[in-house]
Amino acid sequence: MELYAGIEQAAEVFKTTRKLVTFSGAGMSAESGIPTFRDPGGIWDQFDPAEVGTGPGLLNTLSRMPEKIRAFINETIRVFLQAQPNPGHLALGTLEQIGILRSVVTQNVDNLHQEAGNKNVIEMHGNLFRQRCLACEAKKPFGREEYLGRVKNALEEMTTFDLPSIMEMLPKCDCGSPMRPDVVMFGEAVQGLYESFQEADSCDVMLVLGTSGVVYPAAALPQKAKESGATVIEINPGDSAYYGVADIRLQGTTGEILPRIVQRIQNA
Ligand SMILES: [Zn+2]
Repeated sequence: MELYAGIEQAAEVFKTTRKLVTFSGAGMSAESGIPTFRDPGGIWDQFDPAEVGTGPGLLNTLSRMPEKIRAFINETIRVFLQAQPNPGHLALGTLEQIGILRSVVTQNVDNLHQEAGNKNVIEMHGNLFRQRCLACEAKKPFGREEYLGRVKNALEEMTTFDLPSIMEMLPKCDCGSPMRPDVVMFGEAVQGLYESFQEADSCDVMLVLGTSGVVYPAAALPQKAKESGATVIEINPGDSAYYGVADIRLQGTTGEILPRIVQRIQNA
């Protein structure tokens, strides 16, 4: 479909709904400078998920090669500190504000949807800046810059880099125990699965953004929405697994296309 016609068509669909649910993935974060999984030069290209992406792997690597963990944390801080919501994120904030978008279901952990003004965000893979108690599971949100700045300073002041000094650096829960980032590591169960499928089941438009559709169970959400009668609209600069699912497929970045759709709606 020609892009201009597709944008017109998507805007017409958006105008008729107050139950639009967005499903977003790594491509949206990539537009904000956070490389996607195994992008050349990205975090998972430089660091082996088996060594730093699971709890046991992380502890093992820390005892054998602490400098690798330090480098991983430093790279994570660098990447996430410079990221900002992109025009695609901001367009979603506007769509919620004008009553069209009901919720955002995301696989991203970077908090950028909230920073763009979205209030109803279901984070299937957690949030890097929210902390979870290792003992009582209580959760505490931190701001992105606040948390990263805190870790950065603690790392700079650290004279020895080992497990006890890292435990010392972690924020403390009200119960006194250390707290870790509330993200879903490899092999851990996703969060908000039931709520996400409920959103997919009850929406009338699902907007699929920057996700290749290969990481299950999240990848099944657009299919679920379609089976429940929703119109599925996909924006993706590359290929995905949703060619047979999307009713309207727009090839391009969210930052390029979403603001144009919003503009059409607001000028109508
Ligand atoms: Zn606690």
